[in-house]
Amino acid sequence: MVNTMPVGGIARDGEAREPADLVVRNGRVHTGDPARPTASVVAVRDGRITLVGDDQDLPSHVGPGTRVVDALNRRVVPGLNDSHLHVIRGGLNYLLELRWDGVPSLRTALWMLREQAKRTPEGQWVRVVGGWTGEQFAERRLPTVSELNAAAPDTPVFVLHLYQSAILNRAAVRAVGFSRDSVAPPGGEIVRGHSGEPTGVLLAAPAAGLLYSTLAKGPSLAEEQQLGSTRHFLHELNRFGLTSAIDAGGGFQNFPENYAAVLKLAERGELTLRIAYHLFPQAAGQELDDLRRWTATTRPGDGDEWLRLNGAGENLAWSPADYENFTEPRPLRPNQADGELEAAVRLLLDSGWGFRLHATYDETIRANLDVFERIAADGGFPRGVPWFFDHAETVSPAGLDRIAALGGALSVQNRMMFQGSAFSERYGPSAAADAPPIRRMLERGLLVAAGTDATRVSSYNPWLSLEWLVRGRTVGGRLLAAEENRVDRATALRMYTAAGARLSGEGELKGVLREGCYGDLAVLSEDFFTVPEEDISHIESLLTVVGGRIVYAAGEFEGLAVPLHTIEPSWSPVAFYGGFHRTPPPGGSDGVRQGRAVAEAAAESEEHRQWRITRGFAPDNAPAHEIFDACFVL
Ligand SMILES: [Zn+2]
Repeated sequence: MVNTMPVGGIARDGEAREPADLVVRNGRVHTGDPARPTASVVAVRDGRITLVGDDQDLPSHVGPGTRVVDALNRRVVPGLNDSHLHVIRGGLNYLLELRWDGVPSLRTALWMLREQAKRTPEGQWVRVVGGWTGEQFAERRLPTVSELNAAAPDTPVFVLHLYQSAILNRAAVRAVGFSRDSVAPPGGEIVRGHSGEPTGVLLAAPAAGLLYSTLAKGPSLAEEQQLGSTRHFLHELNRFGLTSAIDAGGGFQNFPENYAAVLKLAERGELTLRIAYHLFPQAAGQELDDLRRWTATTRPGDGDEWLRLNGAGENLAWSPADYENFTEPRPLRPNQADGELEAAVRLLLDSGWGFRLHATYDETIRANLDVFERIAADGGFPRGVPWFFDHAETVSPAGLDRIAALGGALSVQNRMMFQGSAFSERYGPSAAADAPPIRRMLERGLLVAAGTDATRVSSYNPWLSLEWLVRGRTVGGRLLAAEENRVDRATALRMYTAAGARLSGEGELKGVLREGCYGDLAVLSEDFFTVPEEDISHIESLLTVVGGRIVYAAGEFEGLAVPLHTIEPSWSPVAFYGGFHRTPPPGGSDGVRQGRAVAEAAAESEEHRQWRITRGFAPDNAPAHEIFDACFVL
């Protein structure tokens, strides 16, 4: 069919047209564009969409140089956009991290850790940093220090659990130099045993600073490896159909030093994800100096369609409150930081900068709004400046009205999917049913974009967040969100595409499939609109296209994407396990369920064999554990 097409065809309207670079045809395309909601063909030339239509529109778009991909009647959606992702920091560390994201049992998680410790060279650590919680495991619990010691007797192991705790094995306690005399920073706790020695457990009580500063004592990747690590992380995001993200800055994310890897990839034209980033002042007391320097030298919108500045935040002034550790009481908010916040916001607005601001609790949001309204009262808060709150789990209806009055927006994440059980136990199921109050936000006409807040708490997998928006349950399956606070699938997808595009001022350019927009799309493994709700989190992309470039291809499309560079260092956990752990969807066939049961049974019997070996009841000469474990992990 392709060969019979006229070269540089004549459109039906009679105009000559250059052929497309890429055509995806035979797809069930959900465009997100109300003017044309469905189609079967998308054509892209020079990075922009030139056609959203049907097969009969094709002839004028296909030439000898056009790559035509048959989507095999699969669902095609606009590329996803995570509006709150610590993608730059995540990229610098990705190849150093063992990801437990999606791993179904603690047994498997510990097996991965044990094998990884064996291949980790001296001086390096094994670290598990976010993206998981004990509730996702069949065992429904966290690992213990003694399990980490058994899995890794000599290699330092650091396991970060949400904003709540870190678990270190003995070798890690030694490596970071904790002793009976160590003093935790305010808001942190080094748990001690009877002897007064640290046990290996660190608590955010309620501040997570101790966890992050301890993690920062570990080795980092060399500069060239950070570049490769970023490339692999972006590819891992492409695996789930993500084509854009708005970076939220983050602690230990210094500008410009820690932006070198993405800047270099952008310069070389090698980014596979569009990134709009925010600048986040790092040092308490120095926020205004940082913001003054930045506003004097750069402007929001600087950069290009791949990497651009989008304002300040998610932190503007360090304030000792709003810790999102739901196992601890809600912090009483001192307002000594309000003066600094006011100075920061005035400076930003006077310089024409938008911003985002981290706020979990209504108390924080109300105090921040007091500051904004004070500025607005002297005419210093111009309408039309892009600004938004991040998180907003407990924002009140009155708070939402005030946000709307100041022209603000919201960015919500599936943190409750990971922390919702702790939240529900502290504040009760009726508070959890409404956290965050997404429907109330939407009813007011507020712009609400979705995301994950990965990588240190939630997983970066957008389909978990999409499932949570629709289904309202934790990763352990616990129902949190009331029916009236859940959204339909099309709304969820819009929050993950068009809404994010608007937060970075690119609403006319991406988030929908329409002529003139960027050629960013994903062909999905399963139809998001028809799979059982509990299977949404198992969707992946089989073909991800950014700006008309195929950046990820799997399944029937394997081989269409440019191959990735080899993983350096070669002992990286990603070289052995990849990133997010793939498991069969629960709504899958009986055969899949049976296979899983057999694998679990094999693992049980292997556990029993190990128990016998350690007590001298069985010889330790068979390599059986290698075989057993591998079969249930792969
Ligand atoms: Zn935040």
